[in-house]
Amino acid sequence: MSSSVVAYTFRHIPPLIHRSLPSLFCRHPPCTVLFKSSSSSSYCGLLNPCYFTGNSLFRRMERFWAGGSVNKNKGMVEHLQRYGIIQSKKVAEVMEAVDRALFVPDGSPAYEDSPMQIGFNATISAPHMHATCLQLLEKNLQPGMHALDVGSGTGYLTACFALMVGPQGRAIGVEHIPELVAMAIKNVEKSTAAQLLKDGSLALNVGDGREGWPEFAPYDAIHVGAAAPEIPKPLIEQLKPGGRLVIPVGNIFQELKVVDKNEDGSVTVRTETSVRYVPLTSREAQLRGY
Ligand code: SAH
Repeated sequence: MSSSVVAYTFRHIPPLIHRSLPSLFCRHPPCTVLFKSSSSSSYCGLLNPCYFTGNSLFRRMERFWAGGSVNKNKGMVEHLQRYGIIQSKKVAEVMEAVDRALFVPDGSPAYEDSPMQIGFNATISAPHMHATCLQLLEKNLQPGMHALDVGSGTGYLTACFALMVGPQGRAIGVEHIPELVAMAIKNVEKSTAAQLLKDGSLALNVGDGREGWPEFAPYDAIHVGAAAPEIPKPLIEQLKPGGRLVIPVGNIFQELKVVDKNEDGSVTVRTETSVRYVPLTSREAQLRGY
């Protein structure tokens, strides 16, 4: 497991830095923050505008979590509901049904609102990012619909998608590190989505997600769990009219984009929030640390 990429959230900022630097840079909601330990790296938390977020909601959440009282998946979901990140019953039910502890490395604080290293310079996103993406895609994850999860990593979000689209739908994960796909399959086999994997409505594949997964296109929902320098064309092409793509775009400064394909085939793009994800890149670049 590589140790070069470390995932941090706001509360990990050393208090001195936290106090001495203004929180002017970002007024956005909570975001996934990555921090690379090498000082020569571009993954420096100090360059991230959201590292010093002044978002008061997030601060209230941070205080709550710091109390260490969240030790159950249900408790994690309730807090995300209380702070308005989970807004719908369906997303709450699905996140309650898929126990996050099955998807994080052994011994990790599974219910903390923090991204965590999973090896191979990858992370599992923080619960608030998973919840945000599920909310943004909810209408496109109705029973029977097709969903694609690019950069499926641990398989957590693919499992959530599978429960939402049900046995008549399709939830397809694409991940370019074979070892992570093998791990994700084991994770899902222990989860409430196991039967869907067995029956084939949930599948986890090895591949370059920048090419999408044409076999089950077009998709009602596409999620990308890694930041692309620009929106990959194949993903737009594989989106159904009426479909939605949620994708982080950018390098050091990244934004979560919501791309809607209209019924006439035209595309509307809006920015949801600032975020920090690992890059959507080649396997080689990722394994050598980008
Ligand atoms: N959403 C997942 C993982 C997020 S980390 C989770 O929360 O568990 C981003 C993932 O994207 C990593 O697992 C990384 O290996 C993968 N990735 C990066 N570039 C990729 C590419 N070109 N094709 C497929 N997967 C990619």
